[in-house]
Amino acid sequence: MRDTVTPMAGSASTGERDGVDGMQSTWAVLVAAGSGERLGSDRPKAFAALGGRPLLAESIERLDASEWVDAIVVAAPAGWEEPAILLSEELVASKVSTVVTGGATRAESVRNALGEVPEDALVVLVHDAARPLLDDAVIERVVGRLDGTVDGVVPGLPLRDTVKRVEHGLVAETVDRDVLMIVQTPQAFVAERLRAAYVDELDGATDCAALVERRGGRVAVVAGDPRLAKVTTAEDLEHVSRLLEAERT
Ligand code: C5P
Repeated sequence: MRDTVTPMAGSASTGERDGVDGMQSTWAVLVAAGSGERLGSDRPKAFAALGGRPLLAESIERLDASEWVDAIVVAAPAGWEEPAILLSEELVASKVSTVVTGGATRAESVRNALGEVPEDALVVLVHDAARPLLDDAVIERVVGRLDGTVDGVVPGLPLRDTVKRVEHGLVAETVDRDVLMIVQTPQAFVAERLRAAYVDELDGATDCAALVERRGGRVAVVAGDPRLAKVTTAEDLEHVSRLLEAERT
């Protein structure tokens, strides 16, 4: 049984929350509308083959199986909505509520999907389909940290390499890497805070948290997962395929 999530400021309680009176409180937004040009595939990235199935299958299945997720909205590339619906049906992913057409940018795809999240949703979990190896423990970490003191939660990884700020091919500064983190998805938000952030200008936002931060929102960081690597290039796809194979054996 999962712990209670209490995204409303100041509140705290224990016991089961979701499923009460059939209320669906935690909605996952799965953004899968990227073109995947850098992958060099003949189809959008979400439909590139991973372990014998479309890459998208992995995150749909894992979100659907998660106790922390009540319903899912998928943002699919234009013209690929039907294949996304068929895939959800094949996977018997009953939590997939809607497939929407994605936008020109990731942020626009999130906004389109948010339009299908009901007003009474309490938490929205946004995930990149391009990070297929989604472990339930990460979902638990981000959703579980929404304790009423923060507006959003992101998974982060420390940097291993030395980081330098470079200008015109010359090092301008060696940055203190201890204060920097690589941020991944899934990212969890108090639904009303995320919605409010998406009313604003979306320019330059590469993740959802950036928009919540712009409005002065508090975003916490929890431990990320190196296996949540993002598939961008063919090499990334190979890397993730190997991780998936190791997971299956
Ligand atoms: O392009 P990139 O890999 O950074 O995209 C991150 C995620 O956002 C991917 O899962 C991709 O499918 C999604 N995306 C989207 N709509 C876009 C661009 C990216 O849903 N227009």
